[in-house]
Amino acid sequence: MKVIDIINQSDKTVFSFELLPPLKGNDASKIYKTVETLVDFDPKYINITTHRDEMMYIEMPDGRIEKRTVRKRPGTVAIAASIQYKYGIPVIPHILCGGFSKSETEHVLIDLNFMGIKNVLALRGDGNKGEHVFRPDPNGHSNANQLVEQIVNLRSGKYLEADLKNTAPMDFCIGVAGYPEKHFEAPNAETDLQYLKQKVDAGADYIVTQMFFDNQKYYDFVDKCRAIGITVPIIPGIKPINLKNQLTVLPKLFSIDIPQDLAVELGKCKTDDDAKVVGTEWAILQSKDLVAHQAPSLHIYTYGVSDNTRKIVESVF
Ligand code: FAD
Repeated sequence: MKVIDIINQSDKTVFSFELLPPLKGNDASKIYKTVETLVDFDPKYINITTHRDEMMYIEMPDGRIEKRTVRKRPGTVAIAASIQYKYGIPVIPHILCGGFSKSETEHVLIDLNFMGIKNVLALRGDGNKGEHVFRPDPNGHSNANQLVEQIVNLRSGKYLEADLKNTAPMDFCIGVAGYPEKHFEAPNAETDLQYLKQKVDAGADYIVTQMFFDNQKYYDFVDKCRAIGITVPIIPGIKPINLKNQLTVLPKLFSIDIPQDLAVELGKCKTDDDAKVVGTEWAILQSKDLVAHQAPSLHIYTYGVSDNTRKIVESVF
């Protein structure tokens, strides 16, 4: 089922969460365990992240330094397909511009369509580690709006490959990312919002936000989107803090603020377990407030930790 239909047909906030594929060489048992910890709470859909290849400099035995490409978390399509098949829950694999040519993207979408997957989240992705700018693949897209256009074209059977021209149309429900505290590269919030509108105008069905810890930022963001004519559902992203160092790591990685009250409480924590209690409590308060404000869905960033997400949904739904 398409996420946009799930949201439109529900008269209350629905619950969803995001999973990372396992590191290369591991099996999927940890992922399945996370799903099984949360399945009783009726998640309406599950997002599966995608991780581009990383450029690494490796010192060889003879002292030479070689530049190598390493894929640490492959398997998004396989994990997504197996979760949807095993649990009957719709999945949303993430599709990236970075590291993929348009043709490779088309092949991924064809695989997803074969497996009965009807939803994707269309993202640009970040630059390679150590590079300060995003470099598109030579035959790939520079921004997510172009990726949305490619996926939308498939709705009318417009494939890139000539021999696929007579293939049946593929109709994916498309989500895109939004940033209540502005994307870190955008010169200002207004420009960022205009680019968000461009993605929606290109055919995105809904928006999922970057994590935020102050709900007012989400409410203001929704108001600003509505003011410029963005009418699609805007799903809030919730990250339950579970490690002490996330107090400093998350603002740096995601260009977001940790409110002073939360920062003070996390600052008092002696262990990661203490930080997890504080982070879970904060996420519960945020989630209850978002449900009271009729947010369409909660998108919980699990990062592979499920016991805190379970506590949140137990308290909120
Ligand atoms: P874009 O919409 O392309 O925007 C990127 C920047 O370019 C912004 O500053 C924007 O203002 C600007 N911009 C947009 N369009 C244009 C244009 N046409 N011309 C010029 N400038 C433009 N990353 C991963 O690698 N894997 C994942 O699985 C993943 N999942 C995510 C899930 C969610 C819910 C979110 C919020 C983010 C996720 N990310 C993921 C991170 C995301 O890839 C990064 O934030 C990335 O830097 C931006 O992606 P985007 O799709 O928002 O890009």
